[in-house]
Amino acid sequence: MSRTTTATIHLGALRHNLARIKAMAAPARVMAVVKADAYGHGLERVARALDAEAECFAVAALGDGLRLRAAGHRQRIVVLSGPDQPGDIAEMQRLRLDAAIHHEAQLHWLAEAVPGRGRLRVWLKIDSGMHRLGFPPERAAGVHACLAAMPGLDPEIGLLSHFAESEVFDGEATRRQIACFEQATRGLAAPRSLSNSAAVLGWPEARVDWVRTGGLLYGLSVVEGKSGADFGFRPAMTLATRLIAINHVRKGERIGYNGTWTCPEDMPVGVAAVGYGDGYPRSAASGTPVRVGDATVPLVGRVSMDLITLDLREAPQARVGERVVLWGPQLPVETVARHAGTISYDLTCGMTRRVLFVEDEN
Ligand SMILES: *Cc1c(COP(=O)(O)O)cnc(C)c1O
Repeated sequence: MSRTTTATIHLGALRHNLARIKAMAAPARVMAVVKADAYGHGLERVARALDAEAECFAVAALGDGLRLRAAGHRQRIVVLSGPDQPGDIAEMQRLRLDAAIHHEAQLHWLAEAVPGRGRLRVWLKIDSGMHRLGFPPERAAGVHACLAAMPGLDPEIGLLSHFAESEVFDGEATRRQIACFEQATRGLAAPRSLSNSAAVLGWPEARVDWVRTGGLLYGLSVVEGKSGADFGFRPAMTLATRLIAINHVRKGERIGYNGTWTCPEDMPVGVAAVGYGDGYPRSAASGTPVRVGDATVPLVGRVSMDLITLDLREAPQARVGERVVLWGPQLPVETVARHAGTISYDLTCGMTRRVLFVEDEN
């Protein structure tokens, strides 16, 4: 029996999810988004599992592209925020990474770059309404022409934009962003990419040439009240630990730091070896569901660094040493995220270094 908190990564689920995304998005092609250490699942691990089936990976930063090349992956890799400094351009050329170009400064760096071997592939990023990265829509044609005239760049210049709330399936904001992008890029001969995971689910008209899916790859949903499983995807992470104590606590006694929860009767309170020091969210409120053996019980009191406390009245069979699952196929991480006031991505990305990662072929 190990006390260590364990994140099990289900490689079969990753493969299932990519196949399902491909089937849903076709004929659009798929960028498998593996930024932020593959949403906390492990970049090299996920890339290895998907290598045979992934046509293209997308990452946030050059360093992740370097890691993928070092691990031997040869497919296309898109760096979604492009070069962060002038020196990145030569490095991206050397590593054959596609660069998103979203800012005037990057145009200057490109113009002044010493042409290296091979042509750099670029994607022109347009701000269609999110106001994070991208050129204003009225600059799209001009910047596209500017890039097309630069020597050292691949003549095929992609066009991309990002949605601010595509998980709202009937939302006006996404409708406006699609229309804005269409208008800004009309007549430009180029592959286009708009959709993130939620848009693949809810905005079929936005799939165009390439979709960029992260969340769904890991079986994660950000759609209100829905888990990835509700759309036919499988969660790729199980976070589990053990029960290390069961205490009998009297009616009226308060549990944990600041005594935020009071026992309504004499009752068994379990203690599980996981806390915010592992990445379990401190914001998870009393009432957050936790699996103990085959039962689902509520968390009670504050999450502490190394431990959580559980109301075991509905799990009278529980014993010290019992397996405790914080999230996984039997308990959607989306449900835990809702109780913690955040989204599933935030939780899987938050695993700390003391969590032991293991792989499961399923
Ligand atoms: C993170 C990201 C994605 C993937 O979003 P998901 O919701 O995880 O599918 C796509 N495009 C860009 C630009 C991103 O930053």
